[in-house]
Amino acid sequence: MTTIKRVFVAASITLAALIIYQWGHIDGREGKPSIVIAESIAVSSSVPSTVKARERDYYSPNSEDLKPDEMRVIACGTGMPTTRAAQAAACFLVELGNGDKFLFDIGSGSAERISSLQIPYDYLDKVFIGHLHADHFGSLGELFIGGALMGRQKPLRVWGPNGRAPELGTAYAVQKLKEMYTWDLAGRVGLVDFRGYSIEVNEFDYTAENAVIYQVNGVTIRSFPAIHSLDGPVSFSLEWNGLKFVFGSDSYPNKWFVKYAKDADLVVHECFVAVPDLVAKMGFTPEQALVVGTQIHTAPEAFGKIMQEIKPRMAVAYHFFKDFDTTAAINDRIRTTYDGPLSLAEDFMVWNINKDDIRVRMAVVEEHTWAPPLASKPALPQKGDTEKYSKGMNVDMKSMGYSDFIKQGRWADVDEANRGIYEEASKALGRKFEYPSQ
Ligand SMILES: [Zn+2]
Ligand SMILES: [Zn+2]
Repeated sequence: MTTIKRVFVAASITLAALIIYQWGHIDGREGKPSIVIAESIAVSSSVPSTVKARERDYYSPNSEDLKPDEMRVIACGTGMPTTRAAQAAACFLVELGNGDKFLFDIGSGSAERISSLQIPYDYLDKVFIGHLHADHFGSLGELFIGGALMGRQKPLRVWGPNGRAPELGTAYAVQKLKEMYTWDLAGRVGLVDFRGYSIEVNEFDYTAENAVIYQVNGVTIRSFPAIHSLDGPVSFSLEWNGLKFVFGSDSYPNKWFVKYAKDADLVVHECFVAVPDLVAKMGFTPEQALVVGTQIHTAPEAFGKIMQEIKPRMAVAYHFFKDFDTTAAINDRIRTTYDGPLSLAEDFMVWNINKDDIRVRMAVVEEHTWAPPLASKPALPQKGDTEKYSKGMNVDMKSMGYSDFIKQGRWADVDEANRGIYEEASKALGRKFEYPSQ
């Protein structure tokens, strides 16, 4: 071994020993490394500190306050009508520094993504639906019923377009959804806090151009027509505090989008699966793939063309299956027509937006979640709930409950076991819970 090599090896061993020694002497009380260890890190950048580990580049829900001038957008669904575990269908959550939150589309599977964010459901009471394809509102029922169960103590409010006939509008779809849940609702009314089990619909004219459909608390949401499948679909813009978010829902490239999304901060527009993949992976014929991939939806090249015109601070492409063998092709095709800032969205991608910066990260979420914290106090069922909520339903909910036939099927032997649970609760909480008479 040469002298130089010997010196190098000796220095390395000494440094390693110093680091190992000092690593064991981090001041546990403060949770911070000592000054000595900080010097060691300066010598060897390969040794992480606990502080550094906390600053990893991900978003952990409920761990960051939004600044008063900041907007946060979270993708809660970026996929397709063909369902898959890896991606829910269309849904984007917008959170503002003033505390307001808005959902744009509520596609199949997205309610599960939303629940992972552990946001109190009272704050998730506003949903804007761009069009009535299942992959854009398939989870509305889950947000309606499940959201109430998990603590929404106010009606769910839905905004969506009308159509060329009453049966093609949002109000009709929501009324039928509510009717679909007649049995579900009838089984709960009178037993639980029922304030969250109602839906308000705000249907607006799909042909209105850049029309204000919501304006509260400094937030303005506008609608403009989209071109997709049938008359009816719309796109939305949300403006607040000098920031502009645009959500396309689904649309073939159109003049309204180019006009009203121009220069926005974050622009979300569909970017459909590339035509060759529609044939190879989805079993389309070439003829079908060409029509669906370029005429009904927006091809990656067309997405790029729109963004090159709009020049957003960040272009967000969604509505394709983002896999190891599809992402590069989508990117390459977009880049034939667009060279600006780009996010290829996937579920739980997060954008923090202020006037100076757009930070893009992924959220790291908990899958085994329970109900999130409550934002308002729960209440016992109110007298008159049944009459109040029976309105607009096709059955008289007052006549609900078990028939004598079903009542007679109760197995009395289980009462003793159940009584024990009542006694346990009475003891634990210091008040008497009476076992119901059968
Ligand atoms: Zn659609
Ligand atoms: Zn769609």
